[in-house]
Amino acid sequence: MTAVANDNFTASDVEELERSINSLVRITHKMAAHWWIDPKTGEDLRKNPLMVPVKLALVHGEVSEALEADRTDAMDDKLPQFPGIWVELVDVLFRVGDLAGAMKYDLGPVAVAKAMVNATRADHKLENRAKAGGKKY
Ligand SMILES: [Mg+2]
Repeated sequence: MTAVANDNFTASDVEELERSINSLVRITHKMAAHWWIDPKTGEDLRKNPLMVPVKLALVHGEVSEALEADRTDAMDDKLPQFPGIWVELVDVLFRVGDLAGAMKYDLGPVAVAKAMVNATRADHKLENRAKAGGKKY
């Protein structure tokens, strides 16, 4: 049984978090695997050390698109039934998952470990955040 950080974060949540992150990584990389092949040469771009920073820049681009969508309250242009920020956040998830999948980063256990650390951090506790110098957000 996995350790639990607090009453709101159950062992079931921990297991679901790890499973969900692993699924996100596996599925989003399957969806985007063709973006890791140079269309002209057939080169496997995972071997190019500049591809990780390129893909991180693309994640940043999606975050910027989310910011702009929120700033203007825009609906998405390709999926007008959804707020733009929702669509851009999905783009962020897709790009992060694809990068992790391509590079074989094992994010599920990291997500669980990080959630546990965050749940017990003193600087994240409401009473400490309310103090002078505490984190407002
Ligand atoms: Mg986008």
